[in-house]
Amino acid sequence: MLFLADRATRDTLKRLSQVRKALRESDERYALAVRGANDGLWDWNLHADDIYLSPRWLEMLGLEGAQPPPGPSAWLGRVHPDDLPGLHRALDAHLSHQTTQFEHEHRILHADGSWRWMQARGLAVRDDLAVPHRIAGSLSDITARKGAEQALAHAACHDALTALPNRTLFLEQLDSSVSEAHRAGAAHFAVLFIDMDRFKAVNDSLGHHVGDGLLAAFAGRLRACLGSSDMAARLGGDEFAVLIRSVAERSRVDSVAERIRARLAERFVISGREVSVTCSIGVVFGDLAYPDGDAMLRDADLAMYRAKSLGKDRCEPFELDLRDQVIAQRALEDDLRDALSSGALSVAYQPSVDARTGAIAGFEALVRWAHPVRGWLSPDTFMGVAEETGLVVELDRFVLRRALEDACAWRSEIHGARSTCLSVNVSDHQFQRADFADFVVDALSACSLPATSLSLEIGERTLMSDSPYARANLARLHDAGVRLAIDDFGTGYASLGYLHRVPVDTLKIDRSFVSAMESDPAAAALVATIVSLGQGLKLRVVAEGVESIAQSRALMRLGCDQMQGRLFSEVLDAQGVRALAGASPRYLTMGPSRAA
Ligand code: C2E
Ligand code: CA
Ligand code: CA
Repeated sequence: MLFLADRATRDTLKRLSQVRKALRESDERYALAVRGANDGLWDWNLHADDIYLSPRWLEMLGLEGAQPPPGPSAWLGRVHPDDLPGLHRALDAHLSHQTTQFEHEHRILHADGSWRWMQARGLAVRDDLAVPHRIAGSLSDITARKGAEQALAHAACHDALTALPNRTLFLEQLDSSVSEAHRAGAAHFAVLFIDMDRFKAVNDSLGHHVGDGLLAAFAGRLRACLGSSDMAARLGGDEFAVLIRSVAERSRVDSVAERIRARLAERFVISGREVSVTCSIGVVFGDLAYPDGDAMLRDADLAMYRAKSLGKDRCEPFELDLRDQVIAQRALEDDLRDALSSGALSVAYQPSVDARTGAIAGFEALVRWAHPVRGWLSPDTFMGVAEETGLVVELDRFVLRRALEDACAWRSEIHGARSTCLSVNVSDHQFQRADFADFVVDALSACSLPATSLSLEIGERTLMSDSPYARANLARLHDAGVRLAIDDFGTGYASLGYLHRVPVDTLKIDRSFVSAMESDPAAAALVATIVSLGQGLKLRVVAEGVESIAQSRALMRLGCDQMQGRLFSEVLDAQGVRALAGASPRYLTMGPSRAA
């Protein structure tokens, strides 16, 4: 028994000495760790309300050698007033057993006047009744970590390129404006949705470097248009949004939107290059019917989309029926994308007639779309969407390739088709692509068609454009022998200076002038001027949309080279072209009545 007791005692003593050793080691380890971690120590006697602050604690706050006031106010008295209530709560929670460890992050005033973020950790020491009489622990400087955290938080809700708030932050702020309106029972704010027009063209033609510079400069100018309570954000790409708070009168919003539009249309100079862009703005007013900011932003987007489809560079307010219209528009966009891959697009042709011989001089390729639900669609219904989405690039290339194939087949099948010319419409977008001229040259050689039998119909905007891509494409096409025609001549720009600079062969008089010739003397005079301008510059002049014998006679009298329109032929499919060209009609010599 005694032996056993002795043994138990020995065991206990042994264990006790092990524990002491471990404790000593752990104490030392703790001291080492604290020193290594550069932490300060504190020890607070709760009964005496006295606190010990280690030299390192004081040094961390620039208080070495200072005489801190007695008691815990040496610490608590320096804590940032915003953080003090939280610190008290954390202490109380631990002292009253709600937490197993005390831990709190707060700012403490450094002797140099700056705020330092500190993390305090500690444990209470309790008596037999579990009443705490002492609490002690460490203090670590986490200012650097907090700074990094704040930088990350800032980055998470700001756009790096423009430094504007991003979509997340914008929606957060808009959501709180919406909730505020619900609480107050009235909404006095508005949202502008701003999208740059033709940003893609700038980016593609002048490079990303200029594109980025433009976005940053655009953002800066946008911010400068706003009051201090308003907020601008970059939603992504070339889309921006503005939240206008405290709208007393709707007219103020309209004038802010108008001011923004006008300011942003002024010329920018980016990396030494002059760049002009416009923007389309959608405006929506706060309304209690909006459940959240997202719904409101969507409507602002719809209004912006409408501003685009009404010709860009304008502000449009949101209206309820827009939702249906835009849904239809977006559906059309999806359908067009499908059509491009499913083969629902085809190419139709309209002949042009030589005004002197009456023979067919060429064919203009015109895209057609067999829509699965809506039937045959003419380009006027979908060209806007194709341009806006950039799908026109793929569309034009499809038409060009198909038309060249057809023309090649006619040449081998139809006697006399060798001298007819093929005209293909190409969008301005195409000329902003570095590879466009190569694409055309390759497509021609794939069909072994001479370049001189192809004429590309382009808008005046392309010719006026000072983008290096447009200039390079035009020059390369010209050098290859491809002909260039100015489509819808007279409807675009008043300036004619560019005619001397660019290598065009043909002017196409817009059908609106031709159709007004008989009733409007001004239109007749304009047509006469265009014909003599063409003669003076040695350009071929083609009149389009010729519908009546009177129009054709007047055009022939003026000396117009070619005519095109329903008077001679409707738009035909490829089979119709075979039949017509095979018959080698002589429209004018047979008399226009035959064709009419
Ligand atoms: P555009 O180049 O001015 O083409 C002539 C338009 O006039 C065609 O309309 C044609 O069907 C129509 N037309 C023909 N004869 C007459 C007539 O006697 N009277 C009247 N009032 N109109 C006549 P369409 O095919 O609807 O094309 C409309 C526009 O769409 C074209 O105008 C052209 O700018 C564009 N477009 C057509 N196909 C393409 C294409 O493949 N690529 C591109 N980028 N644009 C195209
Ligand atoms: Ca045309
Ligand atoms: Ca035209």
